[in-house]
Amino acid sequence: MAKIAMFIDLDRCVGCFACQNACKTINDLPPGVVWLKVTPKEHKPEEVDGKLYMDRFPVPVNLDTCIKCPDRKNGNQPLCASVCMGKALWIGDPDKALEAAKNKRAVVFTK
Ligand code: SF4
Ligand code: SF4
Repeated sequence: MAKIAMFIDLDRCVGCFACQNACKTINDLPPGVVWLKVTPKEHKPEEVDGKLYMDRFPVPVNLDTCIKCPDRKNGNQPLCASVCMGKALWIGDPDKALEAAKNKRAVVFTK
């Protein structure tokens, strides 16, 4: 059974890299190393029903790092999520994430 999920709302993510930079900062990662990588989607930005959807969203390199992330103490959202201005990203319960993704343009990673 999955222990953790990362939920990304594609309608809210603008591919701004703030989450990636926050993860690097909070975990003091050396140059060139990322645990969360804002990655191009397969397709270019597309317009759907008059809204422009961007072509990038964050992908965790390995959710084991998120399970152990010291910034998730006391059940708080880690910095990667709290810096997201659009509230596109959160980390938490896998069942809750899968439920939240129903009928949404969203991506859920679980481990
Ligand atoms: S999830 Fe939030 S912080 Fe990360 S790239 Fe998307 S909008 Fe930016
Ligand atoms: S939970 Fe921690 S390790 Fe995982 S992406 Fe966020 S800041 Fe990085």
